[in-house]
Amino acid sequence: MVSRVIPVDPFDLVIFGGTGDLARRKILPGLYRRFSSGQMPETAQIIAAARSEMDDAGYRQMISDAIDEFGGDMDKSQVSAFLAKLSYVCVDAKGTSGWNDLVSKMRDGVVRAFYFSVAPSLFGDLAERLHSHGIASADSRIVVEKPFGRDLATAKELNGVLAKHFNEDQIYRIDHYLGKETVQNLMAVRFGNMLFEPLWNAQYIDHIQITVAETVGVGGRGSYYDKSGAMRDMVQNHLMQLLCLIAMEPPAKFDPDAVRDEKLKVIRALDPVQPHHIVRGQYSGSDDQQGYRDHVESPRSRTESYVAMKTHISNWRWAGTPFYLRTGKRLRARTSEIAVVFKETPHSIFGPEAGSHRNALVIRLQPDEGITMDVTIKEPGPGGMRLIDVPLDMTFAEALGPDVEDVPDAYERLIMDVIRGNQTLFMRGDEVEAAWAWTDPIINGWEARNDVPKPYDSGSAGPDDALMLMHRDGRKWREVR
Ligand code: NAD
Repeated sequence: MVSRVIPVDPFDLVIFGGTGDLARRKILPGLYRRFSSGQMPETAQIIAAARSEMDDAGYRQMISDAIDEFGGDMDKSQVSAFLAKLSYVCVDAKGTSGWNDLVSKMRDGVVRAFYFSVAPSLFGDLAERLHSHGIASADSRIVVEKPFGRDLATAKELNGVLAKHFNEDQIYRIDHYLGKETVQNLMAVRFGNMLFEPLWNAQYIDHIQITVAETVGVGGRGSYYDKSGAMRDMVQNHLMQLLCLIAMEPPAKFDPDAVRDEKLKVIRALDPVQPHHIVRGQYSGSDDQQGYRDHVESPRSRTESYVAMKTHISNWRWAGTPFYLRTGKRLRARTSEIAVVFKETPHSIFGPEAGSHRNALVIRLQPDEGITMDVTIKEPGPGGMRLIDVPLDMTFAEALGPDVEDVPDAYERLIMDVIRGNQTLFMRGDEVEAAWAWTDPIINGWEARNDVPKPYDSGSAGPDDALMLMHRDGRKWREVR
């Protein structure tokens, strides 16, 4: 019962950085899945462009191996038909070599999209060369990856570089969290039902918790991560986007600018975070496991691998409702969820022995994407009126049937949106800048105070101070599991 696959228009998709980690792990296996689902038209063409010397055959072999490793179930005949759509050009983003080869491959009359899966320092060079070689037309699209800047100044600079050659409606800034099925389902649940929206405000909602917990450490990305930290790497983009979708006003229609205007208003209404409402952490080592500082160059690094905070949105809907956000590496479980915790009933007719109960709507992004609603019911059986909270499962797998497994993953859905020209699930330049404007003072404050992150054990739920952040308010984090 998954919606019908509608093929997109014929396209030329150029993937700069086509030999890189992201292209091999996510982009190409995702494109393969869209191909095998029938969404890619016969005439689609995918051109990988990167620095390594390689021919088409070498590149196809590289991607065949990548699909093998990261592509999930596959059908060998489908894989070879997909590989036939790929070609490779060796291009220097900063030089002149390879560009004429790329020009000769581009066709007229099809959608042109350019995926910049390279370091952001190359965005300007690519944008400039796409124009000077006449490859980018007025309706071409470019896709850019995170990190989009490391503060407001660099984000503005990057927006400025891209704006020299492309209009805002040609620029697709990816945040793959927005491509997740459940994130879109969150909008459907909020705005497609009468049930929730009347309760979606400070009068009925006690607080909202957003958790993105990872079990992995920084691993091989240590030197990159150490210059960034959890605030820049996760909060400024992914958690902020989730917060926006939960908190925004209903847009007048589900169109890119209407949705993004509402998200922007949320970011602009965010209060500055008080230093005592934020906890930074760094995972420590143990006898059998290395700690954060073993994974990065500086043994005295003060970069956070964990952050938890309380923030408020100053508007009519949310005045008085705290939003608690946390994210970290090397935690007990890999889980991402948003929990909307409702207030208790104003009066319990069952007396104090019934205990306190709160409904919670939990939107789970990973693992097991789905939505559950904790509802208070009578505990079955004799023994009087005892109340328990049970989850009402809205995973819908049964109702939707076995095809639900075939829903596209975030990257593949977003790339198809680029080809369709739909920017709803991409960040607009002003949104990214507003998010940095809110994040910068927090990071600058840490730097000015020489703040040292609290150590936490690998496999834990984060530093104890983060538990206290909630505890002080008479609330508690949901378990990381
Ligand atoms: P990578 O280092 O694995 O690959 C970089 C690619 O860029 C290679 O294909 C390389 O040939 C190409 N390249 C480098 N210099 C070039 C030049 N002068 N001319 C042409 N090509 C050149 O990087 P990655 O991990 O694939 O990441 C790519 C981008 O995506 C980065 O901006 C990264 O921050 C972002 N990103 C990556 C991930 C991930 O999981 N890997 C996740 C989110 C965002």
